[in-house]
Amino acid sequence: MEENCLFCKMIKGDVTSSKVFEDDNMIIIKDINPIAPIHYLLIVKEHYQFLNQQSIEQAHKLGECLHKLSIMQSTLGLDKGYRLIINQGEFAGQSVHHLHVHILSGKELKWEQL
Ligand code: 5GP
Ligand code: ZN
Repeated sequence: MEENCLFCKMIKGDVTSSKVFEDDNMIIIKDINPIAPIHYLLIVKEHYQFLNQQSIEQAHKLGECLHKLSIMQSTLGLDKGYRLIINQGEFAGQSVHHLHVHILSGKELKWEQL
């Protein structure tokens, strides 16, 4: 838990979010400013910003999160395909400094639209 982190506050429940799933490792919420018809954020519960700050345990947890996501893909409306994006730092335009995975779907996604 990081004092001034929006996603930590959502995980704690201090800030409301449109949560669609929660387990011990993650929450999945709807992005407030969707860039595709389906736009979720998979947010790991532990606060860290960068993949290169991960312990091996945190890396395993992220793997578990992605595995769980794959199991839930029908429920989330992702059966026709989806794209995962992890923005890392300034050049990627990362605006929330807490590791999260964008899940995009709901239409055919073109590279040039990103
Ligand atoms: P980043 O730019 O860090 O990769 O992604 C942060 C994402 O968080 C953005 O897509 C942005 O729309 C989303 N976001 C920012 N504030 C909120 C909020 O209060 N609620 C929700 N649901 N999403 C948010
Ligand atoms: Zn955080």
